[in-house]
Amino acid sequence: MDLDLLSQTLTDMGQPAYRARQVWDWTAKGVASYEQMTNLPHQLRETLSEQVPFSTLTVENEARASDGTIKLLMRTADGRPLEAVLMRYRDGRRSLCLSSQSGCPLTCAFCATGQMRFGRNLTASEILDQALHFRRITEVDHCVFMGMGEPLMNLDNVLAASRRLPDIGITHRRTAVSTVGWIPGIDRLTEDPMPLRLALSLHAADPALRSQLMPVNDRYPLADVLAACERFYARKRRMIFVEYVMLDGINDSVGQARELAQILDPRIYKVNLIPYNPTDVGMRGSTSRAIEAFRAELERLGLGATVRLTRGRDIAAACGQLAAGALSADAAVAVGIGS
Ligand code: SAH
Repeated sequence: MDLDLLSQTLTDMGQPAYRARQVWDWTAKGVASYEQMTNLPHQLRETLSEQVPFSTLTVENEARASDGTIKLLMRTADGRPLEAVLMRYRDGRRSLCLSSQSGCPLTCAFCATGQMRFGRNLTASEILDQALHFRRITEVDHCVFMGMGEPLMNLDNVLAASRRLPDIGITHRRTAVSTVGWIPGIDRLTEDPMPLRLALSLHAADPALRSQLMPVNDRYPLADVLAACERFYARKRRMIFVEYVMLDGINDSVGQARELAQILDPRIYKVNLIPYNPTDVGMRGSTSRAIEAFRAELERLGLGATVRLTRGRDIAAACGQLAAGALSADAAVAVGIGS
């Protein structure tokens, strides 16, 4: 729901100031329509239904995996595609993966979103509406900004949305912002009072290889990024997750594990090895043997390392995959070969 439009509409109608809060409280609890907001006057509920769309987003495609993962392809009112994912784990955790941008201006070589054209930053309401959609299906308790886009390039809106996530059931401590290493954003997160978690997409300790995989490394070199992460840790005292996508024959040797262990302080960083979800960029994921050897070497050198559980494999849940598919479908329609 467009919360700015909501308050403007309520003000224009001469409604008391507490109405916006009432509407938000119901929405955050997961009701499915204005009609269910029983402490609002009936007439007001009808007017809101007509003037303030209940969501800023529409669902274009929903994929349900056998493990309970739900991945949505959604569109903004102006037609921009984005993705959002609900992951359900056996221990009961319900975790959301949210997008901060439609498309992404960065061009990481292995990432499907990086191959699409950048659309625009999402508004705070568009970010919240992803979470609210899932809240209407189930209770939720964790959130990661690991969907489409670079959250630290849209930090005002990511922070505005994060401020409201506790109302939906997701505390700040259970909210993680993942970045390629956008230093000005890391510095702002360090200053922000919310105790959000930081995750860093690292992917290669060697500078030349990292620049090849992530061109942003030329702008913000890894050494400077790690210095910013260490300032974050000094202030927040919260460990930083390092994400490392395992690419067959590219960054997955035991020697590369040693290089990684050399640059990361085990008191500050924990490594999360990510099995690669193949896209059509021509890279292969590492074998599970290579992943295990890499993890064991990090542990041997004293650095905590886990392998990320894969969720939703059967529904193309990798970053940007659904939206990239939808865009090529659009293109097919545009040239008259689609259905
Ligand atoms: N821009 C932010 C957040 C979005 S991507 C960032 O880069 O951190 C979230 C994570 O998914 C990143 O670590 C990214 O490298 C990883 N990722 C992208 N494509 C992937 C794929 N095909 N398989 C597995 N992980 C992928």
